Parts: sequence; structure tokens; C-alpha cells
Amino acid sequence: MSTLTPPAPDRAPFRALLEAQRADCVRQRELALAEAATSVPDPVAVDRAAALLRTIGEIDAALDRVTAGTYGVCTSCGSAVPAERLESRPFAATCVSCQQR
Ligand SMILES: [Zn+2]
Repeated sequence: MSTLTPPAPDRAPFRALLEAQRADCVRQRELALAEAATSVPDPVAVDRAAALLRTIGEIDAALDRVTAGTYGVCTSCGSAVPAERLESRPFAATCVSCQQR
């Protein structure tokens, strides 16, 4: 007798990857903020800090999807995000065609 429960995809490696990327972004953002906190703020460092904060937000959202079990599912159209895309951009929320829209 067998049950037809599909095997849950193992997202543990992605969680570890996301957490490592997040830690790296936080570190880079601290460096950028330190650079931006001079008497003459460096606009490049300010922009970099803002971009890193956005990425950290995307990583947090991806970690939430891992917890919710919806990681790897396009948040726009609901189809599976290809593994190659998740490997190059683990915090991608959408598939390539939704991204390009
Ligand atoms: Zn999509």
C-alpha cells in the first residue's frame, strides 16, 4: 500500500544559501553605510546601501516562502521557477517571463 503524497522538495540547501547571502548583504551594507557616513556622503555608497537593503528584503521574502512551502513557485503566475534561475538568483520571486513583463 502506498500513499500518493508527493515528496516535498528539499529546500534546506536553498535556505542555507539564502541565509549566507543575507549575511553577506548585511556585511556589505554596513561597509557601504560606514562609507556613506562621512562628512561628504558618497552618493555611490548611499545607492549601494539602499540597493543592498532591497536585496535583503527580497531574501527575507524568499526565506518566508521557504518556511511557507511556496519557495520556487512564481509569485506572479504560480508556475515553477526553473532550478537554474534559483541557482543563479536564489531570492528570485518570479519566473523569467514574469520578470520581463
Ligand atoms: Zn511567472
